[in-house]
Amino acid sequence: MMNNERFDVIVVGAGPAGSTCAYLLGKSGINVALLDKEKFPRRKLCGGLLTFKTIEDFGENI
Ligand SMILES: Cc1cc2nc3c(=O)[nH]c(=O)nc-3n(C[C@H](O)[C@H](O)[C@H](O)COP(=O)(O)OP(=O)(O)OC[C@H]3O[C@@H](n4cnc5c(N)ncnc54)[C@H](O)[C@@H]3O)c2cc1C
Repeated sequence: MMNNERFDVIVVGAGPAGSTCAYLLGKSGINVALLDKEKFPRRKLCGGLLTFKTIEDFGENI
């Protein structure tokens, strides 16, 4: 954990919604911290599918 570090935005929850939000904020130059109560990789039900929209948003960074 970062000591005395300051952020413009703190996103709580690093699921697809929170991590996408933090990624897009960070990409636009905003100093963002992403927090989750779980240690990753967390146990999560998932079919492993990435939607076309997700692939499009992340582009070459995926
Ligand atoms: C069986 C199953 C299969 C699925 N397969 C797919 C698939 O193949 N592809 C797909 O795109 N979607 C799939 N989904 C849907 C997908 O899991 C959800 O749409 C997605 O996880 C929702 O993302 P989210 O970020 O809103 O919430 P979540 O993924 O639930 O993330 C919320 C995060 O917030 C954290 N959190 C909660 N409370 C706190 C707190 N107080 N403090 C800190 N952290 C906290 C949690 O630990 C969690 O990591 C599947 C769902 C199910 C049930």
